[in-house]
Amino acid sequence: MKNETAVVDEKYDKPNWMNIVFLSLVHLLGVCGVVYATFHFSWPTIILAVIFFCLRALGVTGYHRYYTHRAYECSRVVQIFYLLFGAASFQNSVMKWASDHRNHHGFTDTDQDPYGVNRGFWNSHIGWVLRVGRPIDFSNVRDLERDALVAFQHRWYVPIGLVVGVVLPVLLGFLWGDLVGAFLIVSALGLTLQYHATFSVNSFAHLIGTRPYLQNISARNSWLVSVITFGEGGGHNRHHRYPGDYRTGIRWWSFDPPKWFVWNLSKIGLTWDLRVVS
Ligand SMILES: [Zn+2]
Ligand SMILES: [Zn+2]
Repeated sequence: MKNETAVVDEKYDKPNWMNIVFLSLVHLLGVCGVVYATFHFSWPTIILAVIFFCLRALGVTGYHRYYTHRAYECSRVVQIFYLLFGAASFQNSVMKWASDHRNHHGFTDTDQDPYGVNRGFWNSHIGWVLRVGRPIDFSNVRDLERDALVAFQHRWYVPIGLVVGVVLPVLLGFLWGDLVGAFLIVSALGLTLQYHATFSVNSFAHLIGTRPYLQNISARNSWLVSVITFGEGGGHNRHHRYPGDYRTGIRWWSFDPPKWFVWNLSKIGLTWDLRVVS
C-alpha cells in the first residue's frame, strides 16, 4: 500500500483535508441524488442533468485540448464557455489544470507526473487529489498567465464554479418546482459522475487497451475508455504521441463528442486552425 502512495517529496505526502471533505460531500450528496430520483422522478431534472454533464465535460475538454495543448484556435465566446463550465467542474482553475497536465505529458510514468499510474491505480484515479502534492509551478503555463480571461478565472474560480455549477441549475430546477432535485441530481450526482469520467482518463486510459503508437509508456487506446470518458480518454496512446491533434478518435465515427463539437463550431467560424496529424 505504501508503495502506491509514495512520492519523492515526503513533506508533501500529506492528506489534503479540504479536498477529502469536499469530494466526500459531493459523493454523499450524489448518492442522495440517486435515492431522491427514485422517489421524486422528474424528466426535466434528468434532462437538465444530462445537459449539464455534457456542458461540464466540454468545459474540461476545452481546458485540455484548447488551453493545455492549443490543438485549435477559438473565439472569445468559446473561451468564456470553457472557463465557465470548466470552473463548474471543480477541477481547479485552467492554469492549475493545464500545469498539472503538461507535467503529465512531459514526465509520464515518473514521480513528476502528478497522476502517474506508476504509483498505482488509486493514485492515478483519485488518490493524487486527496494528497497535498507539490506546490504548482506555473512556469510551464506562462502563455496562459498572459491571457486576461484566464487570469480572471484563476482568481475567481470558486465563485464562478458555484454560480454556474450550483446556483444556475438550482434556479432552473425552481422553474418546474424541483429545486432539491436540481441540487442533488444536476449539481451533486452530475458532478460526481463528471469527476470519475475525468479521473478515468488518468487511470483506465493508462491501464486498459492497446499501445500502437508508443510502446514505452502506459497510455493506451481503448473504445471502452472512450465511452466512459466522453471521448477524452479514447486513443490515449495516440494522444500522448500527438497531443496537438484536436481529436482523440481519428475516424469521423470514433466516439469523441468534443471533436464533433469543435468541428461543428468551425463551420460557423467559432473555431479554426483545427490541427490534425494524419
Ligand atoms: Zn495520459
Ligand atoms: Zn493531454
